[in-house]
Amino acid sequence: MSLETLAITHAELSAEISEIQRAQSGLFCDRFRFDPGLLEYDTCIGLRYKEVGNVRQENGGMYSFDEGETPLCDACEKTRELKRKRVKLRIHLGQVRAAITRIGRRLKEQGQAEHSDEC
Ligand SMILES: [Zn+2]
Repeated sequence: MSLETLAITHAELSAEISEIQRAQSGLFCDRFRFDPGLLEYDTCIGLRYKEVGNVRQENGGMYSFDEGETPLCDACEKTRELKRKRVKLRIHLGQVRAAITRIGRRLKEQGQAEHSDEC
């Protein structure tokens, strides 16, 4: 992939991630609608994590978030979905950055090689 394509992909991924973050920041757990005094970890997601953590501690085994029984409200389901998307995009963004870094490293080495030729 050319440096130009990588830069465009980087810009697109960054924009998509920002868009998701904006969408996520507008989502509020239903539980807060009824009790605004709740703390951040009192969302359905927070409670599910607590449940999953407790089960893991008791059984010492693997127990995934999706296996949890604490119900998630629509906003929390959506938050999870957006987070999953964001994680995927972040991984892709990391790969693009790594590719840009590789090219940069090569260009730097070439530059040094050319420079040493002049000496
Ligand atoms: Zn919720």
